[in-house]
Amino acid sequence: MIKRVISYGHELICHAIQQGESVVDATCGNGNDTIMLSQATGPNGHVYAFDIQLQAIEQTKTRLEESNSSNVTLIHDGHENVDNYLPKELTGKLAGAIFNLGYLPGSDKQIITTPTHTIAAIDKLIDYLKPEGIIVCVVYYGHAGGNDEKNTLLDHLSSFDQKYFQVLQYGFVNQKNNPPFILAIEKKQTSQK
Ligand code: SAH
Repeated sequence: MIKRVISYGHELICHAIQQGESVVDATCGNGNDTIMLSQATGPNGHVYAFDIQLQAIEQTKTRLEESNSSNVTLIHDGHENVDNYLPKELTGKLAGAIFNLGYLPGSDKQIITTPTHTIAAIDKLIDYLKPEGIIVCVVYYGHAGGNDEKNTLLDHLSSFDQKYFQVLQYGFVNQKNNPPFILAIEKKQTSQK
């Protein structure tokens, strides 16, 4: 059976992660991915989770407490500032990162991820990524501003040198209402970055 988009995104990133490694949740939102990443990295691993909305940070905090997760640093700041929070020693060692683009369901639809910030964060994160580490972006684009982000991101990732990166697009072409799709970047062993 063909995997659905969200579960395939999880499978991709979990495949790249070993217990004890560090990862980034670039948009913690309601905390689903943060919890998944906390479990995948385990007690000796670490999750750096970002969101610009206090509501998202608070909700994720509550969910982490409920699941007894203690390996997560919640960061109330934009993912474009990721380099201010990740230790320099993590360069070349980060197992993965995940982005959920768009707005937080049930919240203000004007507060959305933006192409400039998303791309700035991805470009910084690829320096931290280990060989065979993966960045997964779940691209929601049905909202105002969503198409612009989708197209800008596709253009940017299409320019990545195939010698150093594999960039995957995964999604269903016959679903209505702009269903989300995945863009995933894997750093190859041969990467110079
Ligand atoms: N559309 C998805 C959820 C996306 S949530 C779904 O339907 O499931 C996107 C989250 O990104 C929101 O919580 C928002 O506050 C956050 N966000 C927006 N810009 C950000 C930035 N620059 N850095 C970190 N988080 C950001």
